[in-house]
Parts: sequence; C-alpha cells; structure tokens
Amino acid sequence: MKIRSVKTALLKAPLTTPFKTALRTVDSLEDVIVIIETETGLMGFGEAPPTAAITGETIDSLLRDITGPIREALVGKDLDDPQALFTALDHCLGEHHSSAKAAADIAIYDLLGQIEGKAVCEMLSDQPKDVLITDLTISVNDPEVMAEDARKAIKRGFKTLKIKVGVNPDLDLARLSAVRKAVGPDVNIRIDANQAWTPEQAVELISRMGDEGICPEFVEQPVEAHDLEGLKYVTDHSPYPIVADESCFTADDAVRIYDEHLADMVNIKLMKCGGLHQALRITDAAERAGAECMIGCMLEAKVSVDAAIALAAAKDCITRIDLDGPALLAKDPVIGGSTFNGPEILVGKGKGFGVEKIEGLEMLDL
Ligand code: MG
Repeated sequence: MKIRSVKTALLKAPLTTPFKTALRTVDSLEDVIVIIETETGLMGFGEAPPTAAITGETIDSLLRDITGPIREALVGKDLDDPQALFTALDHCLGEHHSSAKAAADIAIYDLLGQIEGKAVCEMLSDQPKDVLITDLTISVNDPEVMAEDARKAIKRGFKTLKIKVGVNPDLDLARLSAVRKAVGPDVNIRIDANQAWTPEQAVELISRMGDEGICPEFVEQPVEAHDLEGLKYVTDHSPYPIVADESCFTADDAVRIYDEHLADMVNIKLMKCGGLHQALRITDAAERAGAECMIGCMLEAKVSVDAAIALAAAKDCITRIDLDGPALLAKDPVIGGSTFNGPEILVGKGKGFGVEKIEGLEMLDL
C-alpha cells in the first residue's frame, strides 16, 4: 500500500497553568501535526512540538522539513517495507531534525497498525500493559507557589511528582523542602534540574537532600548536556539514581550511556531520538545492560504521546512514566487513543494509535 500524500496542520491548545523550567516558560501548546495518507485513503497522524531550546526545531523548521525532504522521501513509497521507509526517513535530513522525523515515524506506525488491524502496542509486544501511571510536573517557581501546586496535584490523585528546579542551588533546596513538607513522606518526588548545576554543586546538593528528608526517587539531568564526564561523576557519587535527559538524544547516545554507565537510566523522548523505530534501539540497549528506562515527552498533545504510551505499554524495561503533556492541557483536543484519568493512563487499544479526530486543527496545505 503506497503513500499518496504527506500533509501538515497546526494544533493549538492552552495549558491549565504556564509551564516553567530552568530553560523556558510556555503558556500554550502549539504543535505541528503530520497527516500521511495512503492511496486507499487511510490516514496516519503524527505530531511534533517546536522545542527550540532542546532540539533546535521551530514551527517553521518543522514545516520546512516535513513538506520538503520528508515528503519527498516518503510519497510513492510502499508501507509493505517499513524498514526501507525508516531508512529513507533517517537519511533524508541531517542528524538533527529529530522531532520532524519523529512526527513522520509516528504517522507511519499509526498506518502500519491500521493495516495490520492491531494497536501499535500489540505490534510491539504480545502482552502490552493496560494501564500506566504517570507523574505530574511541578514548574519551577517560588517555594510557596511550588508547595501549593504540589498540594493541588496530590488532590488530583497524583502520587508521584516531578519537580523542576535548577536556578540557584540554595533556593532549589528550599523549593524541594517546601514541596516535601507540603506533600508528606509518602509522595514520590522526582527531580529535574535541566542541566543547571555543576557536577560538584550537584553532588553536594544531592547529599543535602538526604539530610533534609527530600529523598528523591531520582535526579534527572543535574549537569550540562555535553558534560558526560560530569554526569558520570554525579552518577558515581549519588545515592539516588541519575537520569540522563538532555545528555541523551540519539539511540547511539543511549547505547553509550548504558554501556559506560554514565547515568543509571535515560529519559527516552521520541522527539529527541527520531521516533519509535529509534526508541526501540534504546530499549534494546537498556535490556542488554539489565537497566531501566524512563519515558518522557515535550509539551505534546495525545497524538505523539500515544506513541510513547504504546512503547511504554510494550516494554517492561520502561519503569518510569513522565507522560503528563496531555494532563497539562486545559482541554484534550484529541478524540480516541489512550485515556487520561488523573495519573492513570488507560492504554489505547484501537487500530494504530486509535486517534479518530483532532479538534481545532488548522490545515496548512490541502
Ligand atoms: Mg528532563
């Protein structure tokens, strides 16, 4: 079955509260949607957020990549040979452009599932999970505001919080203490520093976290992305697991991190690695190392998050779920697919990713 067209659209959706990290502040989601249509009229959906601070991609660059090299690489190709499609996708653009490639990869998997009559998680595993539990992100703010946001998250049923810190080490410790006091000892606290500390600062801060009773489940990306030596230093000196996020983009990065134990885990994001076909190389590396993975997302709606959910449902090595993108939206514009119910994600088992309709799409090229 051949690909007839590759089209794009824009999806805009407001967030419940502004999303703030050490790198940026955002108050609404604006993502590019890819629609790949077959000659028989099947439609596969993909999605890419413009996360310039992380992948270097903007709305303009995503649209240019998708309607240029990606469209050229895919139109007229046959879905009977997915490997050839993924190779064409990998090679049509340089090493970057990972979110543009991921959006196309997701739309292709959506079509492959529809053609096989299976959910993508069922294509990837004989026994995919039915339910996943995600954490919720608490944005970096004044300690009292973060404590209040954490209390609200607990009221919504979340038992695991991912706390964004990383502006000033002493203030970061005050933020974490305020959150721990607000939620009590039973709530799981994950920390994401988004590259903010030096290796020495990180090790000192992490040791003070034990003294203050913060006791995180793990600490994500304590040091700058390129500082792999620093990352290993923190990993070797931390009593809590260290997760590589910005330090791990491609599947090759992940393989190195697991092989050389530069961190205890990587945070898989489809938008960084270039889609599911690359993410499967990361889970293979984790399985070989007997290690675990976390899975996360950018500010994404349920189109691309559904692909991450399918992977997490299929792979037992993915033990930490940070797929709260859709939970941050004031209203879910995606009909079909997985269902979000507070921290619970009921894994979609419709054909492909089961997305039936996306509300409020602005089609760009008809
Ligand atoms: Mg992160």
